[in-house]
Amino acid sequence: MTETDPRRHIPRTDRLLADPRLRAASTGVGQARVRAAVRAAQDRARSGVIAPGAVLEEALALLPGRAGAIRPVLNATGVVVHTNLGRAPLSPTAVEAVVRAAGYATVEYDVASGRRGPRGAAVLDALSAVLPGDARALVLNNGAAALLLAVTAVAGPGREVVVSRGELVEIGDGFRLPDLMASAGARLREVGTTNRTRLADYAGAVGPDTGCIVRIHPSNFRVDGFVGTPDVEELTGLGVPVVVDIGSGLLAPDPALPEEPDATTALRRGASLVTASGDKLLGGPQAGLVLGDPDLVERLRRHPMARALRVDKLTLAALEATLREATVPVTAYRTADPDTLRARADVLAQRVGGRVRRHDGVVGGGGAPGVVLPGWAVAVPADLAGPLRAGDPPVVGRVVDGELLLDLRCVPEDQDRTLARQVEAVLSP
Ligand SMILES: *Cc1c(COP(=O)(O)O)cnc(C)c1O
Repeated sequence: MTETDPRRHIPRTDRLLADPRLRAASTGVGQARVRAAVRAAQDRARSGVIAPGAVLEEALALLPGRAGAIRPVLNATGVVVHTNLGRAPLSPTAVEAVVRAAGYATVEYDVASGRRGPRGAAVLDALSAVLPGDARALVLNNGAAALLLAVTAVAGPGREVVVSRGELVEIGDGFRLPDLMASAGARLREVGTTNRTRLADYAGAVGPDTGCIVRIHPSNFRVDGFVGTPDVEELTGLGVPVVVDIGSGLLAPDPALPEEPDATTALRRGASLVTASGDKLLGGPQAGLVLGDPDLVERLRRHPMARALRVDKLTLAALEATLREATVPVTAYRTADPDTLRARADVLAQRVGGRVRRHDGVVGGGGAPGVVLPGWAVAVPADLAGPLRAGDPPVVGRVVDGELLLDLRCVPEDQDRTLARQVEAVLSP
């Protein structure tokens, strides 16, 4: 270390620990955690991630409670439903609803009568209101739970679930939907081939042992060319319940996503039940929706397993707010105007240097593969990626061809300045 090395100025541990705010913190979280935060902050200064003068603030920010392990991130990847960054960001109204529900709240209580009320009735009504006919809804922990309970309650143990070989998909992290359905005790009856399955394939497999037909939207990949499967409408003629897992949770068709299935269309075409996630294109909290035939939905609701898969009050509150929203962040980001994105990128590039270049965003979250969302990014040196991730808030971009691309599509506009500040901080620590 030379005389001029800024690391000489990293504050010493005893001096930091004497700070009144850190002393106060140790009564709350304990001396060991405070020391660990101080050490981590000093390490960051030593490796040049933060300035020596920022060590105290950094240590405070790293304290548990102040900064839990899950921290907000600026998503500059252009990936709208980013699985590793918490999928859909909640709208401000949904966040407020979560906070309101966090204490004692009217989750299963009717204030008028002072008696127990139906759990989550407002959400279920809001869903039914936008669905065709007399379709009812049930909210579960996630999309996988929705499919699991649907197969368990509709087919039942030991009965057959007829499914196309083109739809036996892995949804991520090694989890495979056929294994999920098998874990419900159902016997999978695979029909057709990877690329083509005909109505006759289904018809030949349906018999006295059939519990249901399951259609799964192969949401995270595309097969082009010599492909084909019968429409849901044709399958409903086979006389057994048809469960359609649409995946991403569009409630109605979206012209911008022509290949993405939606609940309304599937139900109109005769699906008995539709299952979907709440935190993909619907833009709400992690949840699983089961929508459709009132009797089947009631059967699922009364199934013993339903209790193990149910959602908490925070989810119900966030989902209800999401359904009332005119536009959720996921939709706003997905449909962001390229010219506005360009203008924001220009401002960022002017502030931090870097080149503005075209960059297409994607829907992500295993949804709408192949759909490109035209936009722009600011290209900065790739070696900024690590320091930017280490900041608070961390900025996550995409390293492409030796450059770090910062795409503002999924950054709330009022955070542009914060992002610029973070880049400036790592450019001149
Ligand atoms: C995402 C997805 C699931 C799983 O939903 P989770 O909410 O992640 O549990 C199931 N099926 C399809 C088709 C999906 O796209």
